[in-house]
Amino acid sequence: MISLSQVTVRYGDLTAVSDVSFTVPPGFVLAVSGPSGAGKSSLLWAIAGAVPLAKGQVEIDGLVILDRPAAAQHGVVLIPQGNGLARVLTARENLTIPLLAAHKPGEELDRRIQQALEDVGLAESGDHLVEELSGGEQQRVAVARGIAQQGRAVLADESTSELDSTNRQRVLDLLHEEARRGAAVVIATHDPTVADSADGHALMDEGHLSWLRRL
Ligand code: ADP
Repeated sequence: MISLSQVTVRYGDLTAVSDVSFTVPPGFVLAVSGPSGAGKSSLLWAIAGAVPLAKGQVEIDGLVILDRPAAAQHGVVLIPQGNGLARVLTARENLTIPLLAAHKPGEELDRRIQQALEDVGLAESGDHLVEELSGGEQQRVAVARGIAQQGRAVLADESTSELDSTNRQRVLDLLHEEARRGAAVVIATHDPTVADSADGHALMDEGHLSWLRRL
């Protein structure tokens, strides 16, 4: 369960997220849309513990989120806009790194990573350097890295923006599959198909959140 209470994010004088409160139970997908600069990424970073709160609180399954390392350890997975991949490592290495904190290297880990690469349609590309992959392929590697972590909260920031329609549907299905596994999922998106498929749809505008369709 993701619970936000009066969450406010400021950068200097600019309020990027203003007094946002909601809950996303396990098994549900919330889509957040809104114009560029509305505060969608800042909202996801706040949930992920990646940006300090000026006010309010984020709680995930009972843990108050104070910083990114603690959130990551608690299973809060962020699939960032721009992918956040290490370009000089292979796709497989990018998937492995976040898992090593909690898992021993070995066959089980290798299987999980291979499965995630297969799920995004990149079973054959695991040993390619990220910088050798296209933008869309990199985006799918970032999604594979996210789902391989089997988090309790999954935050996807425009994770279908560079994909063709087949891969967009594939990634959307995977994010819904994360919810069926028991995760609470939040997707920031400009894509109406992604928003329509979600259980709830919120709109961000100048840091304020309103509901188009409640969860
Ligand atoms: P969105 O994801 O909806 O495009 P963002 O959360 O990226 O919105 O940005 C919200 C506002 O905060 C914008 O005005 C943006 O310029 C500003 N902003 C985002 N990140 C920073 C930062 N690190 N420092 C200062 N301002 C920022």
